[in-house]
Amino acid sequence: MKVAIVGAAGRMGGRLIQAVIEADGLELSGATERPGHPQIGADAGLLAAVGELGVPITDDLATTMEKADVLIDFTFPEVTLKNLEICANLGKKIVSGSTGFTPEQKQQVEKYAEQIPVILAPNMSVGVNACFKLLKEAAKILGDDFDVEIVELHHNKKKDSPSGTAVRMGEVVSEALERDYNQVATYHREGMCGERTKEEIGMQTVRGGDIVGEHTVYFIGMGERIEISHRAMSRDMFARGATRACQWLQNKKSGLYDMQDVLGLS
Ligand code: NAD
Repeated sequence: MKVAIVGAAGRMGGRLIQAVIEADGLELSGATERPGHPQIGADAGLLAAVGELGVPITDDLATTMEKADVLIDFTFPEVTLKNLEICANLGKKIVSGSTGFTPEQKQQVEKYAEQIPVILAPNMSVGVNACFKLLKEAAKILGDDFDVEIVELHHNKKKDSPSGTAVRMGEVVSEALERDYNQVATYHREGMCGERTKEEIGMQTVRGGDIVGEHTVYFIGMGERIEISHRAMSRDMFARGATRACQWLQNKKSGLYDMQDVLGLS
């Protein structure tokens, strides 16, 4: 399966290049960056410090995708939507880890997924996806007697808040408790904001340094507290999740999938 990577010079880009060349059945056929990026023309392998691969980084995704079967995209929602259009026009598959989509942008993704196979997952790690499953079970067992608060920590360059993973955790718990996440998510508390309601799910964000990503969901009851935490120590497992998603997508028809589907957890 021939794989192209967009955003090749980004924090995830280098990890993705390495993961693709190490994955069974995958071959790196192209790598792109935004027009004007200083690494245009550089060899993707040298950029990722895995040795020369003879794959130059270009700024022309449409031409790159003509030679690829699947695109791996870890960029930003507005870029991902343009990339989806290019893939849909060429009938190519796409695996996207971009986060920060608005509900309207998610609807646009769903439209493209009617034409091509799309994997969109705010977190590609096996561990986080196991956490989603554990959270669903915990919420069902603990029910409305436990207050739910979600705290996430990321590096100081992260653009979206709260993280896509934290939002997904909030959605999973809300669904299990038969609540509407958009109604109960509470992003800000300041001043005389009143007592906490039973239904609300607090969403707290910490930003600093080089933290790869940490999430803790607190279920806080009377006299006891359960914490389900995930700590990412490197970006490599996100990249390995993305290559696993490519392999899984090989024989899939058009549709919108996520890592729960890839891992057989849905
Ligand atoms: P980054 O800023 O380091 O990398 C993004 C890259 O995309 C940059 O190199 C940028 O130049 C490039 N880019 C921007 N516009 C482009 C365009 N039009 N065409 C081609 N390239 C373009 O960011 P990052 O830390 O690598 O994260 C990227 C995204 O991945 C974010 O949305 C982040 O939240 C998400 N992420 C997801 C997971 C997951 O498991 N799903 C894990 C880590 C990060």
